[in-house]
Amino acid sequence: MTKSVSKRSEQIVQSEIRAMSIECDRVNGINLSQGFCDLGLPEPVKNGAKDAMDKGINHYTRYDGLPELRNSIANKMLKYNNINIDPEKNIIVSCGATGAFYSACLALLNPYDEVIIFEPYYGYHVNTILAAGARPVYAKMMPPDWIFEINELEKLISKKTKGIMINTPANPSGKVFSKKELKLLADFSIKHDLFIFSDEIYEYFVYDGAKHISPGSLPEIQDRTITISGYSKTFSITGWRIGYCVCDEKWSTMIGYISDLVYVCGPAPLQMGVSRGIDELPDDFYKSLCKEYLLKRDKFCSVLNKIGLTPFIPQGAYYVLADVSAVPGKTSKEKSMYLLHEIGVASVPGSAFYHDNGGDNMVRFCFAKKDDELNDACERLLNLYDRI
Ligand code: PLP
Repeated sequence: MTKSVSKRSEQIVQSEIRAMSIECDRVNGINLSQGFCDLGLPEPVKNGAKDAMDKGINHYTRYDGLPELRNSIANKMLKYNNINIDPEKNIIVSCGATGAFYSACLALLNPYDEVIIFEPYYGYHVNTILAAGARPVYAKMMPPDWIFEINELEKLISKKTKGIMINTPANPSGKVFSKKELKLLADFSIKHDLFIFSDEIYEYFVYDGAKHISPGSLPEIQDRTITISGYSKTFSITGWRIGYCVCDEKWSTMIGYISDLVYVCGPAPLQMGVSRGIDELPDDFYKSLCKEYLLKRDKFCSVLNKIGLTPFIPQGAYYVLADVSAVPGKTSKEKSMYLLHEIGVASVPGSAFYHDNGGDNMVRFCFAKKDDELNDACERLLNLYDRI
């Protein structure tokens, strides 16, 4: 047969995260490569979904989601994100933040448009931009504080630049963008007339007094910001696929049509579960979530420090990039494999977060694990100390 796969799909490589998870299963290791939190499911979320199934809410919903969930999200956006929206016009419930971003890219980007993306990046962002036929262009953030230079961003601008991607708190760096940085990016996006795609899936995971600020809460860029988030992480429901985007009516209609075309709607009873969770869980739920993850972060980072794999302490999200210069291997992939095969702890090679030859002395660990599993990983890492 002379047929072949599309040029578009040829650019998309299998996620390194998935590849590491497969190898981790094969050697029966502890999977600190994948970002899902296997903590419990909050009761109101579970009961809300069960009740919805019992009541027969098992069918297609409106393309932009059930009114109950859109109302819950609108209330939460006002209270937590400081963004005032109309649940009838400004919200598209989709299949995860992933579905929301894909729909937004398809709705707003033309082939060959360019989107600036900060590096280290989350690979799905890059692949989604590519899948839409657009092009990512890369802006480096420098460790340890993952700072960026607006002058460097200026150099990336071309006639084709259409947007900039912000991920706060960020995967994999844990960076939480400050108000000052967001204001710089706001001015930059106005100057060059850019969309701001803002992925805030880790919005509730912030540490050390850092505050989550939604770019869309800055009045001057509210109309150009596409805020993307969801409940996979906050409610430990990565398999439910409930996410959303919030934006100006000028964009939401077409994003909604694309989401309808690709996904039809988010799972109906699960939308009701998330709605009840948002409505009923008290502020304390979110506070204790942070506290719990902070303990995990501190425990894990202190072990990394002890064994000389210096961590870049994250201010948010639940990943940590660590310096693995001391680990045998030429590339971050070899170093990551060494860790997996020697002590059975899976990580993601730093190269997965850079577009060309970056991240070679880094790996990313995910610390969103139950305590006994995390303790086991810590023990194994401490054993590594004698070997390297
Ligand atoms: N955005 C970021 C930055 C992520 O790290 C992840 C998952 O790892 C997602 C989105 C996926 O979110 P969802 O499950 O809502 O599609």
